[in-house]
Amino acid sequence: MIYLDNAGTTKMDANVKNAMLKYFDEEYGNASSLHALGQRAKEELERARADIAKCINAQPNEIYFTSGGSESDNQAIMSLARMGKINNKKHIISTKIEHHAVLHTLQKLEDEGFEVTYLDVQPNGIIKLQDLKKAIRKDTILVAIMYANNEIGTIQPVDQIGKICKQSGVTFFTDAVQAVGHLKVDVQKSKIDMLSMSAHKFHGPKGVGALYVRRGTPIFSLIEGGGQENNRRAGTENLAGIVGMAVALKKAVSEMDKTNAKLVLMRDKLINELTKIPHSILNGDKKNRLSNNVNICFEGIEGESLLLLLSDHDICASSGSACTSGSLDPSHVLLAIGRPHEVAHGSLRLTLSKYNTMAEINKVIKIVPKIVDYLRKMSPVWDELEKGGRKHVI
Ligand SMILES: *Cc1c(COP(=O)(O)O)cnc(C)c1O
Repeated sequence: MIYLDNAGTTKMDANVKNAMLKYFDEEYGNASSLHALGQRAKEELERARADIAKCINAQPNEIYFTSGGSESDNQAIMSLARMGKINNKKHIISTKIEHHAVLHTLQKLEDEGFEVTYLDVQPNGIIKLQDLKKAIRKDTILVAIMYANNEIGTIQPVDQIGKICKQSGVTFFTDAVQAVGHLKVDVQKSKIDMLSMSAHKFHGPKGVGALYVRRGTPIFSLIEGGGQENNRRAGTENLAGIVGMAVALKKAVSEMDKTNAKLVLMRDKLINELTKIPHSILNGDKKNRLSNNVNICFEGIEGESLLLLLSDHDICASSGSACTSGSLDPSHVLLAIGRPHEVAHGSLRLTLSKYNTMAEINKVIKIVPKIVDYLRKMSPVWDELEKGGRKHVI
């Protein structure tokens, strides 16, 4: 099997699994218990918190463990909204290309009377800083802009965004689920106030993540109960998961340069070869892009059909985000970068990891053009395009 859906989830690193095992049998203590087993759990929990904080240049008491990226996104946004209600500030700025965990939370707030400005992105998928500056108002409580996009891999200018937010006194939250473990994330340098991460996107376990909250930034609990996580997230900590996340992140950060150098070669080979297919186009910026992301639209085909045929060849790919596949709506991200509906339907996302090899990439490069050709030959739309009854748009 050739696994090229690493923006959806990653394979757990064997070191991570081995580090987790003892928390399932011997070290099963509850970190809130006062006996020795519980206290050892508490020590491990705090060690993991310190390790994770260090990886993003934060303090340990600024890290809150959650069940993953979605929960972290919800908690960050809902906390600021609650603060906004208290201060009578009801304006939030975000973008049109956020993950649904952000977009759907913002839609909920709009129903509750908040006003949200969704910034457009340029054709390369990057916001205009000028648009952000113009959008900030006296009653703006939060800027929520993702670090790197999960569909097209585009990296936003977070340092400049952080600077603008700081100058305006607005809290800056970034969904960094695709960035942490893949890029050098530094919350001090980038002036980030809140940040989400998720372990299963960097070879850690599923169902565990963290929210970084700069000291002084308001943070309210979404889940009421015990006093875990400094009263900000009730529930017995997922210690095995948390330790797994810390081990995975430390490893990803220490191997980052080596991994990225290898990924870029495979990524660029895929991009160069697959965009040779006639009437195809790369989505997202060529330079400011995650080293593991390839996203290409092919005119005249359905992305879903391409995926199924790739799956028959034991290749796991995606047409966009895992959350929208299965629905018939084209990707909101591809629409935001200006792809027409019919083109957005023909997208293919290949996301790599350190476990991929050049031999696999070479296989994919051989198979994809054949499948695209096959699907086009069967497509009535392609027939029209070829006969001139319809104009090519890419
Ligand atoms: C995967 C992902 C999420 C959701 O994280 P989960 O841990 O699966 O809840 C949020 N944002 C982005 C950008 C993602 O890629």
